[in-house]
Amino acid sequence: MPLTEQVPSRETLLFPLPKSPSRYKLWGLSGDLMLVIMDTHATEEQVRAVSAKLASLGLQCHVSRGSERTVVAVTGDTTGANPAALQLPGVKEVVRLGRGYKLASREWKSEDTVVPIPTTGTAIGGSEIVVMAGPCAVESLEQAFAIAERVAAQGATVFRGGAYKPRSSPYAFQGLGLEGLKILAEVRKRFGLAIVTEAIDIDVLPTVEEYADIIQIGSRNMQNFSLLKHAGKSRKPILLKRGMSATLDELLMAAEYILSEGNQQVILCERGVRTFTDHTRNTLDLSIIPAVKRLSHLPIIADPSHGTGQRESILPMARAALAAGADGIMVEVHDHPERARSDGQQSLYLDQFDEMMEQLRHIAPVVHRTVAGCADSPHASSSLPARSATAQ
Ligand code: PEP
Ligand code: MN
Repeated sequence: MPLTEQVPSRETLLFPLPKSPSRYKLWGLSGDLMLVIMDTHATEEQVRAVSAKLASLGLQCHVSRGSERTVVAVTGDTTGANPAALQLPGVKEVVRLGRGYKLASREWKSEDTVVPIPTTGTAIGGSEIVVMAGPCAVESLEQAFAIAERVAAQGATVFRGGAYKPRSSPYAFQGLGLEGLKILAEVRKRFGLAIVTEAIDIDVLPTVEEYADIIQIGSRNMQNFSLLKHAGKSRKPILLKRGMSATLDELLMAAEYILSEGNQQVILCERGVRTFTDHTRNTLDLSIIPAVKRLSHLPIIADPSHGTGQRESILPMARAALAAGADGIMVEVHDHPERARSDGQQSLYLDQFDEMMEQLRHIAPVVHRTVAGCADSPHASSSLPARSATAQ
């Protein structure tokens, strides 16, 4: 059989070690992404022997112990490493990935990543759908409280709101900065909501980290590699929004920057991409959700506010996102959208938010989920009364 007929497609996720390592060149792989997959019954000692072998080759490794198997991801320049040298006792196969990420991949970690949110006792990526709601930008304590009280009462568990805003125009409202973060801290204290807010650069990251429960990295920063690396050193979860023209691979490689620095708490967010359509601000690409679930263990939420740019489209697209398998929904909500200092046109009225929650609660059981913070959720009894008691 001609050699080319034995070459697997680049889409092949896992493939066995070829007899001749020179075949890798024929496959067009870069040779710098490698996973050592251990046998189901491999012992700790065998895993340690593999790590020691890699260290002797000048390579670093990260060990992932799943319930089914242990996987050793190799980082560093593996170009010269001969996979045959890693065929030690307990090794099932050595895999080279033809993609630029590994820690974000399902091959590396087969179980879903579940990111705990201690403030509310909920988690993102498990059986609960987490709703994140709030204004585009924090504008005042009164505005934030009016919105937070309502969304908390309806079962949102995370309050969103930008204190530092990435704006296309330098003359547009840039956010309240530190004052905005302090308002968000008051929201958490009063309503028991976790806070997600954006760090627009490495200068503000430490301050945002201090105040936020989840640090948002916005669309425009998805490939700000310096910011991603700094976020990777944080101990707070990172909400990574898809760049407006980013492919799925690019999104997962951006996540890889965070993961490879040691922060495993990454939540992806689909927020719409630029297409030729002119009936919406962006095209909310919900088909990325099942694709992410297949290729990665990371949770993914959807943002139909930025994804459509239109208030009327948010509810139907939130329903669709939940049905498509999203682990959460992020929406912009305002008590007076017509007076909002940013993104008023894509902010739900409070009544519309109530309606959305009602519908999500009905849809969730169809996809075997519950909505965190709502009556049927395992955490409802601990979180809801606490919030309403403090919201007097
Ligand atoms: C936001 O969520 O406030 C925001 C600016 O979103 P994006 O980065 O998706 O545009
Ligand atoms: Mn916005």
